[in-house]
This record gives sequence, structure tokens and C-alpha cells, in this order.
Amino acid sequence: MKIILASANKGKIREIQTYCDIDVLPYSDVMAPFDIIEDGDTFKANALIKARAIYEKLKGKEKDFIVLADDSGISVPALNNAPGIYSARYAGEDASEKDNLYKLIDELKKNGIERTPAFYTAAMAMITDKGEEFTVHGWMYGDAIAQARGDKGFGYDPMFIPEGFDKTLGELDAEVKKALSHRSKALVLTKTILRTLV
Ligand code: IMP
Repeated sequence: MKIILASANKGKIREIQTYCDIDVLPYSDVMAPFDIIEDGDTFKANALIKARAIYEKLKGKEKDFIVLADDSGISVPALNNAPGIYSARYAGEDASEKDNLYKLIDELKKNGIERTPAFYTAAMAMITDKGEEFTVHGWMYGDAIAQARGDKGFGYDPMFIPEGFDKTLGELDAEVKKALSHRSKALVLTKTILRTLV
């Protein structure tokens, strides 16, 4: 049974691979990468859009596979939950992760905010080769700060301080993030479902 990940984001692939004790393949190993329009209005809807796009390409051609897709992002309640589902393109369609990070820092500064509650969400969707769909979620709570500290992790990690810590995820060890992260919580549930399928 192959678990095919519907993602080309290297940070996410690395985390999913280290968090999962099941072997996973990025979808780009089994087909040419292509653009998927993520126009859902929730993390779950976007995870399903990605999983279905890959599933449609494999359906009837491959068997013994499960497509796994993740959609994730950071939400800041003081900014009406921005960037939320727009986290990957907050500073524009072709924005880099650094551009997005500094755009969120600028938005906090513009609103006179030094530190404010924030949370990460991860939605995961699975589709089996028979077309059965499953979704799960995980969350991580903490604070967003109006500065970038440390270079570990990826994306918004240098400006996120998890609850109970005084350092950002950019400064904390990967092991700490692994224990707390939205993605690892969603993956615990994902693995429970995968075990019933593989
Ligand atoms: P997706 O590929 O549409 O799920 O976009 C997720 C975006 O949210 C990424 O590009 C990051 O900017 C951000 N993001 C999601 N999870 C994390 C995380 O664990 N750390 C930092 N940024 C994250």
C-alpha cells in the first residue's frame, strides 16, 4: 500500500515523514507536479480539493494507494483570523514563506500589536483507492509576535510562541515542535485511520 502525499511543500513533507512511522511518497514521485486551485473556504475543504485532484489522476491507473493531503495555516483572532486559509499566499500568489512571514509581522505592527493569541490549524484528508474519504484536524495554540526570532521550522514559525514557552518555534528544537504541533496532532488521528485501511 502506497501513501501518496498531495504536497510539494518541502517543510511539510519533511515533517509528515518524520512524524509518521508509515512510508509516504510525495505525489511528484508518481506524476508530474501540477497546479491545484485551492478555492475552498475552510482548511478541510482545501485538503479535500488537493486529495481529490491527485486521486482523479491515479484512479483506474494505480491500485493499493491512499492519497493524503494536508491544508494548514496560522490564524490571528486580533486580525479577524487572518491569514487563515490564505497563509501560503498572504503576501501574494508567488510570495515566498519569508514574504508571508514579514507581511504578518507588518500587519501586527500596523495594528499596534506586539504580541497576541494565534493558532495553527492542520486539516488532513485521506482518499483510498476505492474513493472512500476521511478528514481529521489538529490545532496548536500560542501567541504571534511582531518580530521574527530563530531560523528553525518553516513559514510563520519564527514569529510563533507556543503556549507554555517563551521562545518561538524558530528557536525551539524540532522535537519540541513535533510534540506540540497541529500537524503531529492531526497525524496521530490520520495514523489511527490509516491503520484500519493498510
Ligand atoms: P498549504 O500548503 O496551503 O497548507 O499552506 C500552508 C501554509 O501555512 C505554509 O505555506 C506556511 O506558510 C503556513 N504553515 C502551515 N503549517 C505551518 C507550520 O507548521 N509552521 C509554519 N508555517 C506553517
